[in-house]
Amino acid sequence: MLSLSANHRSQIQTHGERTYPDECCGLLLGRFGTSPTSEEHKILIEVWPVTNDWEGAGEFGLNDGQTARRRFLISPEDYLSGERHARQHGLEVIGTYHSHPDHPARPSEFDRGNAWPVYSYIIVSIQTGQAVDLASWILDEERQFQSETLQQTVEA
Ligand SMILES: [Zn+2]
Repeated sequence: MLSLSANHRSQIQTHGERTYPDECCGLLLGRFGTSPTSEEHKILIEVWPVTNDWEGAGEFGLNDGQTARRRFLISPEDYLSGERHARQHGLEVIGTYHSHPDHPARPSEFDRGNAWPVYSYIIVSIQTGQAVDLASWILDEERQFQSETLQQTVEA
């Protein structure tokens, strides 16, 4: 389960609408907690938008002929600065988000291949420039994505 506020949700949606028809991406900063039912539970505290660095993907041997309309890359530099910011605020990187322009909010095979366990993967679907759906995904033990429950928190 992932807790997030309405404001977090709209930040991610707005980012995806702004970069349309390219994919947007960013880090999810927050805390790993344990819910009363001891189910895996994360709390999103801060959305950390980064620039889609897919143009530089060749450097990492990732370029598969697709463009930033279908792919995203968070550069190691951006990842590290997000991680540093998180640590300074007593937070951790708990996942990433990206958009699917004119595609559903479901992970692709490429997304699955690049995913890590435990992390939350939020995908926002942008249809003709409008955010229409947002979902979070988490890998199970067979490295298959399962839908992650989103819990809306009240703004502090
Ligand atoms: Zn994707």
